[in-house]
Amino acid sequence: MPDFFKTIAFKLTVWYAGIFSISSCVAFGLFYFLTSQTLIAQIDQDLLEKAGYFRTVIRRNGIVGAQNLAVIEAQAAGEKQIFFRLLYPTGEVFASSHMSYWKEVAINEQAVKRLMQKRVPVFQTVPVKGQDQNARMMYTFVSHNVILQTGLAMAAHARFLSGFKKIFSISLGFVILFSGASGMFLSRQALSGMTAITHTAQTISGSNLAQRVPETGHGDELDVLAHTFNRMLDRISALVKSIREISDNIAHDLKSPLTRIRGFAELALVQEDGNELDTYKSMAANTIEESDRLLDMINTMLVISRAEAGEAQFNLETMDLSQMVEGAWELFVPLAEDKSIVFTRSVAKGISVNADGPMLQRAFSNLLDNALKYTPENGHVHVVLENGGDDFVNLRVEDDGPGIDPDSLDQIFQRFFRAESSRTTPGTGLGLSLAKTIAEQHGGSLFVENRNPSGAVFTMRLPYRNFTII
Ligand code: ADP
Repeated sequence: MPDFFKTIAFKLTVWYAGIFSISSCVAFGLFYFLTSQTLIAQIDQDLLEKAGYFRTVIRRNGIVGAQNLAVIEAQAAGEKQIFFRLLYPTGEVFASSHMSYWKEVAINEQAVKRLMQKRVPVFQTVPVKGQDQNARMMYTFVSHNVILQTGLAMAAHARFLSGFKKIFSISLGFVILFSGASGMFLSRQALSGMTAITHTAQTISGSNLAQRVPETGHGDELDVLAHTFNRMLDRISALVKSIREISDNIAHDLKSPLTRIRGFAELALVQEDGNELDTYKSMAANTIEESDRLLDMINTMLVISRAEAGEAQFNLETMDLSQMVEGAWELFVPLAEDKSIVFTRSVAKGISVNADGPMLQRAFSNLLDNALKYTPENGHVHVVLENGGDDFVNLRVEDDGPGIDPDSLDQIFQRFFRAESSRTTPGTGLGLSLAKTIAEQHGGSLFVENRNPSGAVFTMRLPYRNFTII
């Protein structure tokens, strides 16, 4: 099990909860700012209304009326709630409401100066000395030479905002809890497919490759991953199967010559004294022959695996392909005669190629050997070398033997594959695999087709770019 704090589920949860909380804080911050602005605007409006009363009263009843209004208004609203001071532009106070609660609140000279300059109401939020609250102050003219300083306690406003903050803190706790829980749930839900893949991967071993991850078919990323994973398992299990088959075949094919070699050695050992030297010599010759077969098989296997791994060392040089085909054909003529096979050829002259001569000859000999081996007596084998068009050269071996069983067409180029019907004929099952590898190493291909009514045609197709046709 991975460390929980390192899991993607945990990281997603943290991200989810983090984003939720930050968004909530931003939303709260905005709301808080707007609310407090609105509240202050409302207070300012109240203060302006009060100033309006003073203006009316001064107009009707003069300064004395304003003096009385200051006391009455403050008493009506609560003397701790609001105060009024009336002063001349010089700063001299000539009337006020009861100021015992507000005595620490001075007259701000800067504000008075600003009012004198701009002649529009000046507002300020100031802390009230000795009290744990702010007050909103307004300075405004209520007649041409009378300034009203009024202040309103902001305790209610502060209470409202602090209540608001408290509610938000509690809600934020819930938001973090809720977003954490839902983030965890969602990420678990989203990653459950991944857990299934991990689980399957853990249960897979060399001997158990049959397990597959469930595919939902939803076509989402995890479904694609599960599908890819399953196809990868298919390929691995096919590979393991073929490796097993190959090792079984190797074991089987090495066993027979080794058993024969052992038999010869044993026979030599139990021979009675006085036996002819020639008998020993013939046993040694048999042993050498079997050993050569073994070595040949092992070498062939090495060539194929090195070529497949891209490690084969092919010496490419210009060679006369027409001559090579002619030479190989001639070599096989006696074999064809032994079986009374009509062995013909049609070889285009002067085709020079850039290739590994011995390797190409080996591939071609395998095709000829097969054709003569599997074609019954009195059959016909024909060799063709021609320009195959499309920048390719074709080297064909045609026979009128039994052809390839359609079920085996896909398999005959696999290492050690031998058709059931060929088991009685000597062979290793490596010839075609080697020929195909060699053709591919030259940038070409090797394929087979059955003929009508019977027989097989093997075509080695080599790309023209590799060749110079004179
Ligand atoms: P081997 O000939 O040693 O068995 P190859 O790899 O050369 O191995 O050939 C693989 C199989 O393909 C043979 O066992 C045989 O069944 C089939 N095959 C190859 N060439 C021919 C052919 N010309 N006609 C019929 N079957 C063939």
